[in-house]
Amino acid sequence: MALWNPFRKKETPAAETLAQPDASGQPERQPDEPPGDSATHELPAPTALPSAAPASTSQKVGFFGSLRSALQNTIKFFNTDIRDLVKDGRLVDDEFLDELFLYLVKTDMGNRSAAQIRDDIHRKFRGRKVHLQDLVQSAKESIRQIMRQESNGLRMADTGPTVIMVVGVNGSGKTTSIAKLTYRFVQAGKTVVLGAGDTFRAAAVEQLTIWAQRLGAQIVTGKPGSDPASVAYKATEAAKNQNADICIIDTAGRLQTQTNLMDELSRVKKVIGKVIPEAPHEVLLVLDATAGQNAISQAKGFSQAADCTGIVLAKLDGTAKGGVAIPIRQEFDLPVKFIGLGETPDALAEFDVDTYVDALFDSDR
Ligand code: GDP
Ligand code: MG
Repeated sequence: MALWNPFRKKETPAAETLAQPDASGQPERQPDEPPGDSATHELPAPTALPSAAPASTSQKVGFFGSLRSALQNTIKFFNTDIRDLVKDGRLVDDEFLDELFLYLVKTDMGNRSAAQIRDDIHRKFRGRKVHLQDLVQSAKESIRQIMRQESNGLRMADTGPTVIMVVGVNGSGKTTSIAKLTYRFVQAGKTVVLGAGDTFRAAAVEQLTIWAQRLGAQIVTGKPGSDPASVAYKATEAAKNQNADICIIDTAGRLQTQTNLMDELSRVKKVIGKVIPEAPHEVLLVLDATAGQNAISQAKGFSQAADCTGIVLAKLDGTAKGGVAIPIRQEFDLPVKFIGLGETPDALAEFDVDTYVDALFDSDR
């Protein structure tokens, strides 16, 4: 199976040739969502399309810049509180190590990561004075070590469509992330079929349908409340029959019980495999960065039930606790493949550990 990254190929905008709205008819409109669904999560109207894809030459700089502005609250913390902590150099003793630990934990990097950074400082500087530069360099090394991951590219099918299933709790950013992925694929000249598998909420089908139409993807829908596995089956079948490049399956984030949800996800996964034996090629777990440590407990249930292959960390722009990516890497044997940096379809970036760590600490790059 090949690895492919949509961000490295973006020369061919070919949306016009691909736009084939709605393979199976419009979803039925229902003003109210079915009972049992979360009342707190309102489905958003899709945002406007960006006027153009980011220029590839300035991509790295652009990514660093948007990551920096996304992480600005966390960066501010590292560059003010931590700076104050070691002003004029600080003797590395128990008192300092305790203080450092408490400061680090505030970024939501989790106790384990904070303890590792502290212990590395302890090992290297015990009984000596530590200065800001030393502290930052050591912390960066510790974080790189914790976060090191094999690859962030998507696994692609050697032949036929690549099927990507997207899972996560309600409101985590699944549908928006699907729109962002679709946008990238279409920009790269790929044909995309979407499966509106969140049949639990009528508005969710509608939201994805609007995105499909705007982005030039096909969409397969079912009636609200219909079997999501059947939608997933039909979408995968449509992608296969039409020899589409990509099929992305949306899923519900919540059912009446957690067991229902997990059973449903396994079923969806299984039926996709009936159409294309090695599919889904990716099961992406979308986590809400603003949920902080809760994102980690969410991830546990999903990664077990759906055999996730990677993480999309959405809403990294909206959190003062951008350190949460660190324990997510530490607690899960899953690579962080993408990060969400806003609500528009172009606000998705491939995750890169070094860039992330640099962005966290470098105040003026
Ligand atoms: P779903 O229920 O998991 O499908 O979540 P949605 O995709 O509907 O997203 C829920 C809300 O989060 C919407 O208001 C989105 O616009 C917003 N959202 C999703 N991703 C991002 C992101 O990366 N940054 C920001 N700021 N908002 C996001
Ligand atoms: Mg959704």
